[in-house]
Amino acid sequence: MQRLYLLCFTLVVFSSSSCKINVLSGKKQMILIPEAVLQSMASEEYQSFLTENKVITSTKSVDVQLVNRVSVNVIDAVKKYYQDAGLTDHLNGFNWEVNLVDDSAANAWCMPGGKIVVHTGLLPISKNDAGLAVIIGHEVSHALLKHGNQRMSQGILQLMGELAVEVAVANKPQETQDLFLGAYGIGTDLGALLPFSRKHELEADRYGLIFAALAGYDPQEAIPLWERMKKASEGEESFEFLSTHPHESKRIRHFQKIMPEALSYYKKT
Ligand SMILES: [Zn+2]
Repeated sequence: MQRLYLLCFTLVVFSSSSCKINVLSGKKQMILIPEAVLQSMASEEYQSFLTENKVITSTKSVDVQLVNRVSVNVIDAVKKYYQDAGLTDHLNGFNWEVNLVDDSAANAWCMPGGKIVVHTGLLPISKNDAGLAVIIGHEVSHALLKHGNQRMSQGILQLMGELAVEVAVANKPQETQDLFLGAYGIGTDLGALLPFSRKHELEADRYGLIFAALAGYDPQEAIPLWERMKKASEGEESFEFLSTHPHESKRIRHFQKIMPEALSYYKKT
Protein backbone atom coordinates (compact mmCIF):
# COMPACT_ATOMS: atom_id res chain seq x y z
CA MET A 1 0.00 0.00 0.00
CA GLN A 2 2.83 2.33 0.89
CA ARG A 3 4.44 1.64 -2.47
CA LEU A 4 1.18 2.52 -4.23
CA TYR A 5 1.01 5.86 -2.47
CA LEU A 6 4.62 6.55 -3.31
CA LEU A 7 3.97 5.69 -6.93
CA CYS A 8 0.82 7.81 -6.94
CA PHE A 9 2.72 10.71 -5.38
CA THR A 10 5.47 10.42 -7.96
CA LEU A 11 2.97 10.36 -10.77
CA VAL A 12 1.04 13.32 -9.40
CA VAL A 13 4.19 15.34 -9.89
CA PHE A 14 3.88 14.64 -13.60
CA SER A 15 0.19 14.21 -14.02
CA SER A 16 -2.59 15.66 -11.92
CA SER A 17 -5.08 13.00 -13.01
CA SER A 18 -3.30 9.74 -12.22
CA CYS A 19 -4.74 9.09 -8.75
CA LYS A 20 -8.46 8.66 -8.66
CA ILE A 21 -11.02 7.47 -6.18
CA ASN A 22 -13.00 4.51 -7.43
CA VAL A 23 -16.68 5.37 -6.87
CA LEU A 24 -17.65 1.80 -6.03
CA SER A 25 -14.97 0.96 -3.50
CA GLY A 26 -14.20 4.52 -2.38
CA LYS A 27 -10.52 3.61 -2.59
CA LYS A 28 -7.63 5.39 -4.26
CA GLN A 29 -6.36 3.95 -7.51
CA MET A 30 -3.55 4.72 -9.84
CA ILE A 31 -5.28 5.11 -13.18
CA LEU A 32 -3.24 6.46 -16.07
CA ILE A 33 -5.51 5.55 -18.94
CA PRO A 34 -8.80 7.37 -19.45
CA GLU A 35 -11.62 4.84 -19.09
CA ALA A 36 -13.17 6.05 -22.36
CA VAL A 37 -9.96 5.09 -24.18
CA LEU A 38 -10.03 1.62 -22.62
CA GLN A 39 -13.71 1.21 -23.43
CA SER A 40 -13.05 1.97 -27.06
CA MET A 41 -10.10 -0.46 -27.11
CA ALA A 42 -12.34 -3.03 -25.44
CA SER A 43 -14.99 -2.59 -28.08
CA GLU A 44 -12.48 -3.39 -30.84
CA GLU A 45 -10.83 -6.26 -28.99
CA TYR A 46 -14.20 -7.74 -28.09
CA GLN A 47 -15.29 -7.73 -31.71
CA SER A 48 -12.08 -9.39 -32.88
CA PHE A 49 -12.36 -11.97 -30.11
CA LEU A 50 -15.90 -12.81 -31.22
CA THR A 51 -14.78 -13.08 -34.84
CA GLU A 52 -11.90 -15.39 -33.96
CA ASN A 53 -13.84 -17.65 -31.59
CA LYS A 54 -16.93 -19.77 -31.91
CA VAL A 55 -19.85 -17.81 -30.49
CA ILE A 56 -23.03 -19.73 -29.77
CA THR A 57 -25.84 -17.53 -31.00
CA SER A 58 -28.90 -19.75 -31.11
CA THR A 59 -31.48 -18.41 -28.70
CA LYS A 60 -32.91 -21.94 -28.63
CA SER A 61 -29.78 -23.09 -26.79
CA VAL A 62 -30.58 -23.66 -23.12
CA ASP A 63 -27.02 -22.56 -22.28
CA VAL A 64 -27.41 -19.27 -24.17
CA GLN A 65 -30.71 -18.67 -22.38
CA LEU A 66 -29.04 -19.36 -19.02
CA VAL A 67 -26.10 -17.03 -19.68
CA ASN A 68 -28.36 -14.26 -20.99
CA ARG A 69 -30.89 -14.60 -18.17
CA VAL A 70 -28.28 -14.52 -15.39
CA SER A 71 -26.24 -11.73 -17.01
CA VAL A 72 -29.28 -9.49 -17.50
CA ASN A 73 -30.27 -9.98 -13.87
CA VAL A 74 -26.78 -9.22 -12.56
CA ILE A 75 -26.44 -6.17 -14.83
CA ASP A 76 -29.85 -4.88 -13.67
CA ALA A 77 -28.67 -5.33 -10.08
CA VAL A 78 -25.53 -3.29 -10.84
CA LYS A 79 -27.68 -0.53 -12.35
CA LYS A 80 -29.96 -0.57 -9.30
CA TYR A 81 -27.00 -0.45 -6.90
CA TYR A 82 -25.50 2.52 -8.77
CA GLN A 83 -28.88 4.25 -8.95
CA ASP A 84 -29.53 3.84 -5.22
CA ALA A 85 -26.07 5.24 -4.49
CA GLY A 86 -26.58 8.19 -6.89
CA LEU A 87 -23.78 6.91 -9.10
CA THR A 88 -25.65 6.22 -12.33
CA ASP A 89 -23.50 8.68 -14.30
CA HIS A 90 -20.51 6.46 -13.61
CA LEU A 91 -22.04 3.74 -15.77
CA ASN A 92 -21.95 6.03 -18.81
CA GLY A 93 -19.86 4.35 -21.45
CA PHE A 94 -20.96 0.91 -20.31
CA ASN A 95 -22.55 -0.77 -23.27
CA TRP A 96 -23.29 -4.18 -21.80
CA GLU A 97 -22.99 -7.22 -24.00
CA VAL A 98 -22.68 -10.92 -23.21
CA ASN A 99 -21.71 -13.86 -25.40
CA LEU A 100 -21.34 -17.56 -24.80
CA VAL A 101 -18.26 -18.96 -26.52
CA ASP A 102 -17.71 -22.63 -27.32
CA ASP A 103 -14.47 -23.29 -25.44
CA SER A 104 -13.77 -26.12 -23.04
CA ALA A 105 -11.51 -23.98 -20.81
CA ALA A 106 -13.50 -22.98 -17.74
CA ASN A 107 -13.35 -19.22 -17.97
CA ALA A 108 -15.29 -15.96 -18.01
CA TRP A 109 -14.24 -12.33 -18.19
CA CYS A 110 -15.58 -8.81 -18.51
CA MET A 111 -13.82 -6.04 -20.42
CA PRO A 112 -14.19 -2.31 -19.70
CA GLY A 113 -17.58 -1.06 -20.82
CA GLY A 114 -19.25 -4.32 -19.81
CA LYS A 115 -18.20 -6.67 -22.60
CA ILE A 116 -18.70 -10.14 -21.13
CA VAL A 117 -17.69 -13.58 -22.37
CA VAL A 118 -18.58 -16.91 -20.76
CA HIS A 119 -16.99 -20.15 -21.97
CA THR A 120 -19.13 -23.27 -22.28
CA GLY A 121 -16.48 -25.08 -20.21
CA LEU A 122 -17.49 -23.01 -17.20
CA LEU A 123 -21.12 -24.12 -17.13
CA PRO A 124 -20.62 -27.61 -15.62
CA ILE A 125 -18.77 -25.91 -12.75
CA SER A 126 -21.11 -22.96 -12.23
CA LYS A 127 -23.81 -25.66 -12.35
CA ASN A 128 -26.84 -23.48 -11.58
CA ASP A 129 -28.11 -19.91 -11.96
CA ALA A 130 -26.77 -18.79 -8.58
CA GLY A 131 -23.31 -20.22 -9.26
CA LEU A 132 -23.11 -18.42 -12.59
CA ALA A 133 -24.41 -15.21 -11.01
CA VAL A 134 -21.58 -15.26 -8.45
CA ILE A 135 -19.01 -15.67 -11.25
CA ILE A 136 -20.51 -13.01 -13.53
CA GLY A 137 -20.84 -10.68 -10.53
CA HIS A 138 -17.14 -11.22 -9.80
CA GLU A 139 -16.03 -10.54 -13.39
CA VAL A 140 -18.28 -7.49 -13.76
CA SER A 141 -16.89 -6.17 -10.47
CA HIS A 142 -13.33 -6.35 -11.82
CA ALA A 143 -14.50 -4.06 -14.66
CA LEU A 144 -16.41 -1.66 -12.38
CA LEU A 145 -13.50 -1.52 -9.95
CA LYS A 146 -11.19 -0.76 -12.88
CA HIS A 147 -8.72 -3.43 -11.87
CA GLY A 148 -7.68 -3.99 -15.47
CA ASN A 149 -7.00 -0.29 -15.93
CA GLN A 150 -4.76 -0.34 -12.86
CA ARG A 151 -2.88 -3.38 -14.10
CA MET A 152 -2.49 -1.88 -17.54
CA SER A 153 -1.35 1.43 -16.09
CA GLN A 154 1.28 -0.36 -14.05
CA GLY A 155 2.31 -2.46 -17.03
CA ILE A 156 2.66 0.51 -19.35
CA LEU A 157 4.56 2.39 -16.71
CA GLN A 158 7.01 -0.47 -16.29
CA LEU A 159 7.30 -0.96 -19.99
CA MET A 160 7.56 2.55 -21.31
CA GLY A 161 7.56 5.12 -18.58
CA GLU A 162 4.84 7.53 -17.64
CA LEU A 163 5.56 10.10 -20.32
CA ALA A 164 4.96 7.50 -23.01
CA VAL A 165 1.49 6.53 -21.81
CA GLU A 166 -0.28 8.96 -24.09
CA VAL A 167 1.68 7.73 -27.09
CA ALA A 168 1.13 4.11 -26.05
CA VAL A 169 -2.63 4.36 -25.94
CA ALA A 170 -2.86 6.59 -29.00
CA ASN A 171 -0.73 4.43 -31.28
CA LYS A 172 -1.66 1.07 -29.76
CA PRO A 173 1.56 -0.74 -30.56
CA GLN A 174 1.65 -4.50 -30.14
CA GLU A 175 2.95 -4.15 -26.56
CA THR A 176 -0.08 -2.08 -25.56
CA GLN A 177 -2.44 -4.60 -27.11
CA ASP A 178 -0.67 -7.48 -25.38
CA LEU A 179 -0.90 -5.64 -22.08
CA PHE A 180 -4.60 -5.06 -22.62
CA LEU A 181 -5.29 -8.73 -23.28
CA GLY A 182 -3.09 -9.75 -20.37
CA ALA A 183 -4.73 -7.26 -18.03
CA TYR A 184 -8.17 -8.71 -18.75
CA GLY A 185 -7.14 -12.36 -18.74
CA ILE A 186 -7.96 -12.86 -22.42
CA GLY A 187 -6.07 -15.27 -24.59
CA THR A 188 -4.53 -18.61 -23.99
CA ASP A 189 -0.91 -17.64 -23.58
CA LEU A 190 -0.56 -17.95 -19.83
CA GLY A 191 2.86 -16.36 -19.94
CA ALA A 192 1.22 -13.13 -21.00
CA LEU A 193 -1.44 -13.23 -18.31
CA LEU A 194 -1.03 -10.61 -15.65
CA PRO A 195 -2.53 -11.99 -12.48
CA PHE A 196 -5.06 -9.97 -10.56
CA SER A 197 -3.65 -9.24 -7.16
CA ARG A 198 -5.04 -10.89 -4.08
CA LYS A 199 -6.50 -7.56 -3.03
CA HIS A 200 -8.30 -7.18 -6.36
CA GLU A 201 -9.67 -10.70 -6.11
CA LEU A 202 -11.11 -10.21 -2.65
CA GLU A 203 -12.60 -6.88 -3.69
CA ALA A 204 -14.22 -8.45 -6.79
CA ASP A 205 -15.55 -11.29 -4.60
CA ARG A 206 -17.18 -8.82 -2.23
CA TYR A 207 -19.00 -6.74 -4.84
CA GLY A 208 -19.69 -9.76 -7.03
CA LEU A 209 -21.51 -11.39 -4.14
CA ILE A 210 -23.50 -8.22 -3.45
CA PHE A 211 -24.58 -7.93 -7.10
CA ALA A 212 -25.52 -11.62 -7.28
CA ALA A 213 -27.59 -11.27 -4.09
CA LEU A 214 -29.23 -8.06 -5.27
CA ALA A 215 -30.12 -9.89 -8.50
CA GLY A 216 -32.07 -12.40 -6.40
CA TYR A 217 -29.53 -15.23 -6.26
CA ASP A 218 -28.54 -16.88 -3.00
CA PRO A 219 -24.97 -15.68 -2.35
CA GLN A 220 -24.35 -18.73 -0.15
CA GLU A 221 -23.96 -20.70 -3.38
CA ALA A 222 -20.48 -19.14 -3.53
CA ILE A 223 -19.15 -21.68 -1.04
CA PRO A 224 -20.18 -24.91 -2.85
CA LEU A 225 -19.27 -23.17 -6.12
CA TRP A 226 -15.80 -22.54 -4.77
CA GLU A 227 -15.52 -26.21 -3.80
CA ARG A 228 -16.55 -27.27 -7.30
CA MET A 229 -14.02 -24.92 -8.86
CA LYS A 230 -11.27 -26.15 -6.61
CA LYS A 231 -12.01 -29.74 -7.63
CA ALA A 232 -12.24 -28.90 -11.32
CA SER A 233 -9.07 -26.85 -11.26
CA GLU A 234 -6.77 -29.63 -10.16
CA GLY A 235 -4.07 -29.48 -12.79
CA GLU A 236 -5.88 -26.65 -14.59
CA GLU A 237 -4.42 -23.22 -14.00
CA SER A 238 -6.04 -21.20 -16.75
CA PHE A 239 -9.23 -20.25 -14.98
CA GLU A 240 -9.14 -16.58 -14.04
CA PHE A 241 -11.29 -17.15 -10.98
CA LEU A 242 -8.68 -19.53 -9.61
CA SER A 243 -5.37 -19.07 -11.32
CA THR A 244 -3.84 -16.30 -9.32
CA HIS A 245 -5.79 -16.38 -6.27
CA PRO A 246 -5.66 -16.07 -2.57
CA HIS A 247 -4.96 -19.28 -0.77
CA GLU A 248 -8.03 -21.52 -0.84
CA SER A 249 -8.79 -21.62 2.88
CA LYS A 250 -8.35 -17.84 3.07
CA ARG A 251 -10.74 -17.42 0.15
CA ILE A 252 -13.42 -19.48 1.86
CA ARG A 253 -12.92 -17.59 5.12
CA HIS A 254 -13.25 -14.35 3.17
CA PHE A 255 -16.51 -15.54 1.57
CA GLN A 256 -17.83 -16.37 5.03
CA LYS A 257 -16.79 -12.95 6.30
CA ILE A 258 -18.52 -11.03 3.51
CA MET A 259 -21.61 -13.28 3.47
CA PRO A 260 -23.72 -11.33 6.03
CA GLU A 261 -23.35 -8.14 3.98
CA ALA A 262 -24.33 -9.96 0.76
CA LEU A 263 -27.23 -11.70 2.51
CA SER A 264 -28.60 -8.33 3.61
CA TYR A 265 -29.00 -7.48 -0.10
CA TYR A 266 -30.51 -10.90 -0.81
CA LYS A 267 -33.16 -10.40 1.82
CA LYS A 268 -34.17 -7.07 0.38
CA THR A 269 -35.29 -8.66 -2.89
ZN1 LIG B 1 -10.97 -12.42 -10.47
